[in-house]
Amino acid sequence: MMHAPVSEVFCSVQGEGPYVGSRQAFVRFAGCNLSCPYCDTPKESPETCRFEENPGSGSFTYLENPLSGDAIERMVSSFSKIHSVSLTGGEPLLRADLISGLNVSSPLYLESNMTLPQMAKKIRDKVSYVSGDFKLIPSSSVEDFEDHIERSIECFRILKNRKGRDCFCKIVVTRDIDAEDVEAVVGAIRDYISCLVLQPVSQADSLPKPGCLLDLQERLLGHVDTRIIPQTHKMWGCL
Ligand code: SF4
Repeated sequence: MMHAPVSEVFCSVQGEGPYVGSRQAFVRFAGCNLSCPYCDTPKESPETCRFEENPGSGSFTYLENPLSGDAIERMVSSFSKIHSVSLTGGEPLLRADLISGLNVSSPLYLESNMTLPQMAKKIRDKVSYVSGDFKLIPSSSVEDFEDHIERSIECFRILKNRKGRDCFCKIVVTRDIDAEDVEAVVGAIRDYISCLVLQPVSQADSLPKPGCLLDLQERLLGHVDTRIIPQTHKMWGCL
């Protein structure tokens, strides 16, 4: 049986992108292959996974890591009326072998940095929603940026939008972002996605000017449905 380190399991609402506000179970896998400068996820795998059985209660029980697929299925199945199960992280594609064997009744919603195409192949028939980041801000763990871009495009091709699977792209926008770089990658993946979400970075000192964001949106609307949607869950203090 496959096991994986998980930092938390809880029920809340999706805080980003076109499904914002949808009720979901969240499985936050520990560990990531990138090191983005704005990352707010701890790098180390925790010894225990915290489980918030009653949504929004702030009260947790702790399970020893790594968790089996059975343990994850049991926790997720305890939540009712959910739209889907968000597989998030860290980077959930690092746990593709466990995910490919998961057996839950709700659709799976993958939140990925889209840099591991070989792992993406393992779960391409398993997920119904793909919220794929396109990372344009160099991560210290990326040595060859061209190769990083190619692998990202390949990931979107493997997990592309099709009947039974909605794949959309999210790009975190800081004031340093280069509009030409964004347009080039969006041009390369526009046939693979249902829409593009420009997400202004959460840190106030890196926020782009509203005019820049609107100019970027106008430019990208020539390629694909492009929306500006900030993160919402921190606004009302939910997980
Ligand atoms: S891909 Fe996500 S989890 Fe990984 S370092 Fe970047 S922001 Fe953090």
